[in-house]
Amino acid sequence: MEDKTVLVEKAGVVNQRLTVKYGPARWSSKDPMSMLVDIILSHRTRDAQTAAAYAALKARYPTWEDVRDAPTADVEATIAGVTWPEQKAPRLQAIMRKITAEQGNLNLDFLKEWPVEQGVEYLSRFEGVGPKTRACVLLFSCRKPILPVDTHVHRVSIRLGLIGNKVSAEAAHALLQALLPDDAQTIYNFHKGLLRHGQQVCVYERPHCQQCILRDVCDYYQSKVLPKSNPTLV
Ligand code: SF4
Repeated sequence: MEDKTVLVEKAGVVNQRLTVKYGPARWSSKDPMSMLVDIILSHRTRDAQTAAAYAALKARYPTWEDVRDAPTADVEATIAGVTWPEQKAPRLQAIMRKITAEQGNLNLDFLKEWPVEQGVEYLSRFEGVGPKTRACVLLFSCRKPILPVDTHVHRVSIRLGLIGNKVSAEAAHALLQALLPDDAQTIYNFHKGLLRHGQQVCVYERPHCQQCILRDVCDYYQSKVLPKSNPTLV
């Protein structure tokens, strides 16, 4: 691995190019409670199915309190299109009940006022809320400078050489965050840029390297793809 100064510079170049290519990330209008529901629904689920399940919940239940108090089987049936609805329905309701018991209402807007570390600590106490979910809620809805690492951000970061190829997605949160400035918009651009790039260009199987604007800074391209296309350079 390169030293940290080089990696910080590389992360900056990657972020700048991907932000130009895909545009700056736009802030969500969802409040933190709604974002938490959305992100839990999205675990291991495609965007279209997540959006459909979220819309179905909103259509059937006017408020999150109604979801909290509904029969679990009904909530499960409403979100049947996502992966593991039988786990997500009771998990959502348990989290909602715990927040209500602790805060006196079902609202997470207070996280916007808290320091990011305090928000992380608070959300960590809920079962099924891991580093990615916490960071999504705190970045997307509270505009806190914390990086979510999903499967695309993780894969593209490894190929670029920003993190080692044995680093887990969970461990990648702190390592990648350390390469970025403490600025929510910059971090959000990085997250969205790598996510879009992972969906469209640096795909899981056979990345489209010849269409990629990051070839000159990409370890995978320089070490694996380029030598094959120029065997005399090996
Ligand atoms: S050059 Fe290839 S491996 Fe590297 S980021 Fe681009 S698509 Fe991914």
